[in-house]
Formats: sequence, C-alpha cells, structure tokens
Amino acid sequence: MRARLSGGHFRMINEKLYTCTGDEALNYFKEDPSLFDMYHTGYQEQMSHWPEQPVNIIIQWLKAHSSSLVVADFGCGDARLAKNVKNKVFSFDLVSNDPSVIACDMSNTPLDASSIDVAVFCLSLMGTNFSSYLEEAHRVLKPSGRLLIAEVKSRFDPNTGGADPKMFSKAISDLGFTSTLKDFSNKMFVLLYFQKKGKENLTRKGIEWPELKPCLYKRR
Ligand code: SAH
Repeated sequence: MRARLSGGHFRMINEKLYTCTGDEALNYFKEDPSLFDMYHTGYQEQMSHWPEQPVNIIIQWLKAHSSSLVVADFGCGDARLAKNVKNKVFSFDLVSNDPSVIACDMSNTPLDASSIDVAVFCLSLMGTNFSSYLEEAHRVLKPSGRLLIAEVKSRFDPNTGGADPKMFSKAISDLGFTSTLKDFSNKMFVLLYFQKKGKENLTRKGIEWPELKPCLYKRR
C-alpha cells in the first residue's frame, strides 16, 4: 500500500517537472523539499528496471578522457557522476541534499562564462524551457568544450509523438555546436554528443526547437 502511494506521488511529481519551467520547478520544491526525496526514491526504483544506467556511460566517457577536464553536471540528482570520477565536477540540481550539490535552476548557474570543459545532461532536460538549459551550457563551456546529452528514447521517437532527433540536433548546432555522436543503440535512452564551436557571433533568435514530450512512467 505504501509503495503504491509513493509510486503515485512519484508519477505526479515527475509529470509536474516535465510540464513546467525550471523556475516553477525550483519554487515547487522550495515550498516542500520533501517532494524531491519522494521523486528520487521513485526515480531510482524506475531506473533499477533499466538494463543500463546512462549516467554510467557518461562516467565511462569521462574515465576515458583526461581527469583534468572540468565538468558541469546539469540536473545531477544524487551526484553519482561527481562521486565516481576524479574530475572537478560542479553538480547542479533544484534541491541540494549534499554539500557538493549547488541548488539552482540550471538555466541560471553561478558558473563563469567559458569555464567548463564538459557539460552533462543525463535525463535532465525536463522543463518546458529546456532550450534555456542548453543556452546556459553554451555560455559556460569553453570553445571546443563538450556537451553530452543522454535522454529518454521515447522522447525522440516521432512515431509516438516524440521529437524529430534531426530537428533537435539542428537546433543545438544552430546554438553553436557540432554534432560528434548520435547513438540510438540503447533501448531506453539516446546519446547525443556535441562540441562547442569556436568564437562566432551567433544569434539565439530564430532557432527552431522541437517540443520534447514528457516521459511519463507507467504504473508497475
Ligand atoms: N542526472 C541524474 C539525475 C536524473 S533525474 C542521473 O542520471 O542519475 C533529473 C534531475 O534533473 C532531477 O534531479 C531534477 O530535479 C533535475 N532537474 C530538472 N530540471 C532542473 C532544473 N531546471 N534545474 C536543476 N535541476 C533540474
């Protein structure tokens, strides 16, 4: 009974996060931070059914590259990434339950411009204003810095109302990135990696972002 109730709460909070802006989500958790723990208990339960965790793929990527790369983990959850690599990692989420996590809306981080080598979004492009998170990543990344995105696969399946991955990649390219990897081989998530272009006078106006549909989890 208790598990059922908390599963219901998880699905409700999850839907809220996918249908509001980051700013609204920040206020939502500020009013009741216990909802954040409820969300993460449910999230971990869902993840335990995934054969592979995307965060582990990102951890492997970082381990295969220089540990001197400075990382920003946008929407870090329990900061598993920071705990498993030697790199300096700035971890951001809406609520901080750990001194290493900086609580903020990730469209507005305290990082300096051009200060980061790798920006990570692992299942965290949740808000309806997700493009402003990617703009923030572009701001804080150094030229040639990497942008690593792992997202729920169904959100990029046009056959079931998901976004066209080509349109999504094109929008990110227009923001000032080059695509370096598109991996659709995993059943549960896609990996889309990019590299920031050098200094260019880019305009953010006129970029056509697709809508990313919410990832709603089924009752198990
Ligand atoms: N990256 C982690 C957690 C994924 S869950 C992992 O792979 O395990 C998605 C996380 O993104 C949640 O913890 C949620 O609170 C966070 N998030 C969503 N929108 C955010 C925002 N606007 N600012 C900061 N964090 C956000």
